[in-house]
Amino acid sequence: MLVNHCALKDKYCYFIDRYYDKIPFMRVVKQKAYDGFSCVNSECSDNCCHGWQIDIDEDSLSYFREYKGALKSLIDEAVDYENSCIKMNGNGHCALLNKKGLCRLVLEEGEDVLSTVCHMYPRHVEEYDGLREWSISLSCPVAADTLIRNTGKNEYVCEEDDLPDPLEDDFDDFDTFFFTRLCDSRDVIFDILDNNKLSIYSRMKHILEFGKKLQGLLEENDIIGMDDIIDEYSDGEKLLNDPSDKESLVKMVFENDPVLYRMERLDHKWDDELVMLNLFHEKHTADEISSFDLSLLNAPDHEKILENVLHTFIYTYYLGAVYDDEIYAKLSMSVFCTLLIDELFVIGCIMEDKEPVIEDYVHIAYRFAKETEHSDINLDMLEEHCDKL
Ligand code: SF4
Repeated sequence: MLVNHCALKDKYCYFIDRYYDKIPFMRVVKQKAYDGFSCVNSECSDNCCHGWQIDIDEDSLSYFREYKGALKSLIDEAVDYENSCIKMNGNGHCALLNKKGLCRLVLEEGEDVLSTVCHMYPRHVEEYDGLREWSISLSCPVAADTLIRNTGKNEYVCEEDDLPDPLEDDFDDFDTFFFTRLCDSRDVIFDILDNNKLSIYSRMKHILEFGKKLQGLLEENDIIGMDDIIDEYSDGEKLLNDPSDKESLVKMVFENDPVLYRMERLDHKWDDELVMLNLFHEKHTADEISSFDLSLLNAPDHEKILENVLHTFIYTYYLGAVYDDEIYAKLSMSVFCTLLIDELFVIGCIMEDKEPVIEDYVHIAYRFAKETEHSDINLDMLEEHCDKL
């Protein structure tokens, strides 16, 4: 295993080499926080084994069907074989949990018998030709806490795995030529996002403009033309601050947040947030959100929190444009979701007359991610909506 730590700066050469079939191995990228994540199990404030549907993959279903050990009757009671998911008990908890909130399968048979979802969560993987990217999901309170409280630069660890790419045959139609531009442009997007000479709102505006230009070129089938736009936005000195960006972005989110009412509901607790949002809209304005004092947030400060959340969304979704050509929609959705979390946090402070504290920020961020990131219906709806913003 070759390991190097980088900020994804050497990808261009890697993919050009791969394009000419010179490199036969996979590159694996992870958020720097990835390896340090550790589940707190029964100590968790919102254990992931309740409140939503837990799917079971085909291999695990077969294993549970054929299992003949001491837990057979418990497994058969807990597994919905017809709908390939775990049955929840009357309290909405996984029927395999014991009274202490621990998984009886793990306690008695070890982690190897867990289904893929249970084994992996909150770890998430995105696959590309020659590249596998791992992240921890904002929907887990512990992962959200780690990602949001980061006071340093958002960094990624690259590892080169010299084992053959097991998925190589799945990528016959993969557009490596376009993918190199997506990788290069994401580096530039991260540079803009890390440029704290600009307000976070101006950084968001530049990222959206950049994405719109790339999308325009893609629609003209001018992939090579993207190189000029990538060069243009690489020079951070040319990007300007505009104090009106905050107001216009907050207003845009306020006018579009009703999209949340149309989303598929995964956990009924999310209804409380929607009721609060609705009440706020009846008597308050976007200006109250823009002018709300967030200076009490200081480790990290408010702008750094926004930077951290936006990094997470862009890292997770942006390169997926190689499969559907939706560059701008993915960036717009990332910015919109970041600002929606922020808006819901500020609304909670105003409506409940509370001081802004980071624990409440983490809470609303993971609750939002739990409702959106684990439903293809919700993700597709948000992306489609954001494409028009
Ligand atoms: S939500 Fe995260 S910390 Fe909590 S039980 Fe699940 S994986 Fe563990």
